[in-house]
Amino acid sequence: MVKLEWVLVKKNLWSLESRLERSREMGDDGVKKEAMEILGMFQVLPRLVVFDLDYTLWPFYCECRSKQQMPYLYPHGKGILYALKDKGVNIAIASRSPTPDTANTFLDKLELSSIFVAKEIFSSWTHKTEHFQKINRTGVPYKEMLFFDDEDRNIEAVSKMGVTSILVDDGVNLGALRQGLAEFAQNSASGKKNKEKRLPDSSKSDELQ
Ligand SMILES: [Mg+2]
Repeated sequence: MVKLEWVLVKKNLWSLESRLERSREMGDDGVKKEAMEILGMFQVLPRLVVFDLDYTLWPFYCECRSKQQMPYLYPHGKGILYALKDKGVNIAIASRSPTPDTANTFLDKLELSSIFVAKEIFSSWTHKTEHFQKINRTGVPYKEMLFFDDEDRNIEAVSKMGVTSILVDDGVNLGALRQGLAEFAQNSASGKKNKEKRLPDSSKSDELQ
């Protein structure tokens, strides 16, 4: 039993290493190209994709770092952000970081500040529902948003608002992007079906009036 578990651990480590190796080989342009292909596979795309920062876009808590340090993203981060931008999908940030100053400095250093249509970075007791209420004021309905985060309590709270929400395990990557877009397409198709199902009832009540 122990041996089997060890084999599985080794297998997982091997797949993680080969994934990281492949990301390094691909570079930002390679990842962007692959992300563009993934985006091209879906007829329905979200209008806005929202990302958490710590352990979703970058592999650290920015509150534990000094502003003087040079930040870096997960290997697929930049390619995915630029592919979404090129495809005309807006992107935003929802972070509960207690050090928005450091977070914003890091985004500046990575030359990413101007790429986001909204940056909601503030500490809050709510599990990001407050962040999404603010983002919602940009005019995009919750059901047209896709959200990536590494904490399941945020995923749970935000998905209840109607946002397709994806839990990332080790930062956002091409696999998570594909999964997110597939779930978004599925949710928007079932939303449409429900609307169609409701239609006969509402037309009936119109007739009665
Ligand atoms: Mg996080």
